[in-house]
Formats: sequence, C-alpha cells, structure tokens
Amino acid sequence: MTSSAFVEIKNAAKSFGNLQVLRDINLTVERGQIVAIIGPSGSGKSTLLRAINELDPLTSGEVWLEGVQINRKLPPRQYEKHVNQVRQDIGMVFQHFNLFPHLTVRGNITLAPRMLKGISEADADALAEEQLLKVGLLEKIDEYPSRLSGGQKQRVAIARALAMKPKVMLFDEATSALDPELVEEVNQVMKQLAEEHMTMVIVTHEMDFAASVCDRVIFMDGGVVVEEGPPSVLFKNPQEERTRNFLRKHL
Ligand code: ADP
Ligand code: MG
Repeated sequence: MTSSAFVEIKNAAKSFGNLQVLRDINLTVERGQIVAIIGPSGSGKSTLLRAINELDPLTSGEVWLEGVQINRKLPPRQYEKHVNQVRQDIGMVFQHFNLFPHLTVRGNITLAPRMLKGISEADADALAEEQLLKVGLLEKIDEYPSRLSGGQKQRVAIARALAMKPKVMLFDEATSALDPELVEEVNQVMKQLAEEHMTMVIVTHEMDFAASVCDRVIFMDGGVVVEEGPPSVLFKNPQEERTRNFLRKHL
C-alpha cells in the first residue's frame, strides 16, 4: 500500500497494556494544510501526535509522510536509522518546551542540525540566527533557557524545530503551560508559519485560535475521531452530541 496524501494515518490503533487509547483513526493532512485536534483530556490527542513521529509507535495501522511509511517494521538497526531520518522531517513542539537547560539558545538550536545533518558550526550558527530572527529572539541567542520567559522558551523551541527544515510541524498544547499574557506571542509565531504554508497538526484547547488559523478541526473523544470539518462548520454547527457537549464547555 502507498499513500498520496502528505501525512496519512490509516486504521491507527494504540494500546498501553490493556488500555486501548486509539481506535481505528483515519486522518489525512495535505501539504500546507493546518489541522487542529481538539478533545477532552485523555482522549488520545497526544498519543496520536506522538505516533506520527514514532515516539509512541502504533499497535496497528500505518503512518505515512510524503509517500514514505514511517512506522515500518524493520530490523532494529535499520529501524533506528529510518526513525532518525524521518524524525528530521517532523518538527515537534511540546507543552513544556523541553529545551536543554545546560545549553544556550544557540546550543539548543544548533545541536540537532550539527549532530544529525553534520553541518558546520558556521552554517549551524547561521541557521540558528535565521530561525531566531523569525521568532523575534535573535538578541537571546547567547542566553540560557532559565533566563527566558515561558513564551520566549516556547519560541526558542519552535525555532529549534524549524532549524531542521521539517516538512511538517506538530504542536502539542504549545501554549497550555504559559501565563495568559504570554500565549499571544507564541500564537503569533504559529500564525506566521501558517501564512508561510507550513503543514501543521496542532493539538490545542484554544478554540478561537483553531477557528482563526486552521483549515480543519478534528474532534476526538475516547480514542476515536468523533467528527471533523472546517472550523466554520464544526464550531458553528456540530453534528454529534459529544462534540456539542465538549464545545458547550470550551467555546
Ligand atoms: P490527551 O493528550 O488527549 O489528553 P493522551 O494521549 O495523553 O490524551 O492519553 C490518552 C490515554 O492514554 C490516557 O488515558 C492516558 O492516561 C493514557 N496514556 C498515555 N500515555 C501513556 C503511557 N505511556 N502509558 C500508559 N498509558 C498512557
Ligand atoms: Mg495531551
């Protein structure tokens, strides 16, 4: 089997021991599309996102990126090489930033390009500068993460992911750990990426943001996709009772 969509998830199922967390999820994302995933806590949103880059490999089903199956069954050494390769194409931003505390901003951004792509220190520096300029933090290049605000840390995390020149960016509640006044600066960076047609899958609790930035919204509950559609339809005229219930509490 092959896939024609940019990102395609087919019949995805995932269990942790006896707990089935994802059940028969099918999802496609076209190049340049921005897809929001919403749903109650525990519905499997993070697990689905983490399945895309093999952080939490599926129990069954398939994940494809640009015609390449990500969750291929391979002998261990080949698998490791394959996963390292595909992860370079998939940028991920987490709720809690996950910056390396002992490295400066520059060190955080240049580490993966240098280690995984083998580019020179000078080229990696140029990349770091380019991406920091983009997120408005060039002046922080020699700071340590502990000296940054939450919003600045998250923008550095985004710059770090972008420095790998990924094909797709995954955001897992990138603003949920931030003080309310810092949310907007991170949302702005994501909006800018949207304008540049970066392909993005965004798990979020911010319905206004999803409505203004995303092409499609996926509502998950209990490990299934309950309903999906453009924000104008899903938010204004949801078809399913479970979606209506959720939105009543979150809109
Ligand atoms: P969401 O992101 O929608 O809040 P998650 O994908 O984090 O949901 O979790 C879905 C379910 O899977 C929850 O019941 C959670 O406790 C469980 N789960 C997630 N990760 C693990 C894990 N590594 N081991 C066991 N259970 C897990
Ligand atoms: Mg989550």
